[in-house]
Amino acid sequence: MPYSTVNPYTGELLATFANATDEEISQAITQADQTFQEWKLSSFQTRREILQRAADLLRSNVDYYAKFLTLEMGKIFAEAKAEVELSAQIFEYYVKYAEKLLQDEPLQVADPATGNAVLVHEPLGVLLAVEPWNFPYYQIARIIAPQLSAGNTILLKHASNVPQCAQVFEKLMLEAGLPNGAFINLFLSHDKVETVLKDPRVYGVALTGSEGAGSAIAALAGKYMKKSTLELGGADAFIVLADADLDKTVNWAVFGRHWNAGQVCVSSKRMIIDASIYDEFLAKYIAQVELLKAGDPMDPATQLAPLSSQKAADDVRKQIDNAIAHGATAIEVGAPVPSQGAFVQPTILTDIDASNPAYYEEFFGPVSMLFKAENEADAVRIANDSNYGLGGSVFGRDVKHAKEVAMQIQTGMVFVNHPTMVKADLPFGGIKRSGYGRELLGLGLKEFVNIKLVDVVDIDAAF
Ligand code: NAP
Repeated sequence: MPYSTVNPYTGELLATFANATDEEISQAITQADQTFQEWKLSSFQTRREILQRAADLLRSNVDYYAKFLTLEMGKIFAEAKAEVELSAQIFEYYVKYAEKLLQDEPLQVADPATGNAVLVHEPLGVLLAVEPWNFPYYQIARIIAPQLSAGNTILLKHASNVPQCAQVFEKLMLEAGLPNGAFINLFLSHDKVETVLKDPRVYGVALTGSEGAGSAIAALAGKYMKKSTLELGGADAFIVLADADLDKTVNWAVFGRHWNAGQVCVSSKRMIIDASIYDEFLAKYIAQVELLKAGDPMDPATQLAPLSSQKAADDVRKQIDNAIAHGATAIEVGAPVPSQGAFVQPTILTDIDASNPAYYEEFFGPVSMLFKAENEADAVRIANDSNYGLGGSVFGRDVKHAKEVAMQIQTGMVFVNHPTMVKADLPFGGIKRSGYGRELLGLGLKEFVNIKLVDVVDIDAAF
């Protein structure tokens, strides 16, 4: 796909950008590798100052940065500003903790002949980050903040519909004092990802995106034996137990499903409700979704944004039609969404059985799937009957019991009485077809460092 800016609210094509040439790719790898040789020797103090300046610049120009998000992928301006703040918080997390997290770790050894063994953390080199459009800045921040802190350098291949966000973030980092070559944006076409990954100076790849992209990138990483992490799709279960506080739970369910216009890997996509309260939940859920006002994402009154592109909206509508063709009941909710812009009418799907393709799909838009669970065991069964294993949540007044149910959910993250949260001080990642590896915190930091054993042995004691 060519890199271009198309406003999803107006449909206007605003700018196009040429793909990187072989020559530009080769130069970028050389520059990133040369910078790595110096950057890996830089002090934590230097790295901290740069990341803190980046956070300060984001905060002091929040409207400026936020407007590119709304312009290119259509999110509500208030959500765009929240994303700018979240990115600043991620930088600050590593300003505070990176040095501590990367300290040498002496090992407890029982036999003196083993020696004085310590684990040290060394950066690997140049990394490739392949990122999606749904949180254009957050996705960059959550890979570059830890990896620059660790001493690696990064090449970015961002999604083709957010080229200006990618450019703006690259400029931000240079303004913050990052040396040239430590973070380079490249408008890579799909086939050129291999050109980057096969280069011996490139040590790893982090991808966030769809299953298709994940398996293509993981295959390349395998072919060239490069470390990889995959953050892929999800179909988070949102379990409502019989004792849940229904009004509060419905509020969270509506939020969990509709923020970012439903285009979040950890959106609450499958509501699984105890049969005893199903009808009441459905009525309250419809009443709340009806209140969502769709419109111009720059208008502060708007609560439901267009999807990221007309194609994305058309694809979700096709998925809804397919679900109906296979027996689902669709309830369209609220006033008709504007005819201008990539909107999808909020839709609730019920009567979805396991033979319906929708049962196993991820809907990336304002589509809620509701399931009636016979009891708790049935709720857990439905929740785990998914190809995905990203996040999930369980709602109930008896928190201890809700946690016991949460412990049975097969995902990388599970929350009690809150939809899956995205925060600077929580790790992120999944299992099954939602990918492997973790981002953020020390876990994300250590995905791309060489955790090296250094053992100093007494030459006599070994005999
Ligand atoms: P996507 O099509 O997979 O795109 C993601 C990135 O991968 C883009 O930069 C895209 O480039 C690139 N890409 C796609 N196919 C590729 C290939 N064969 N070779 C090389 N690069 C390739 O995903 P999307 O539709 O933009 O995003 C939605 C998906 O991402 C959903 O499934 C969502 O759940 C998932 N997601 C997961 C997380 C998480 O943390 N787990 C977070 C956000 C989103 P182009 O734009 O140039 O095609």
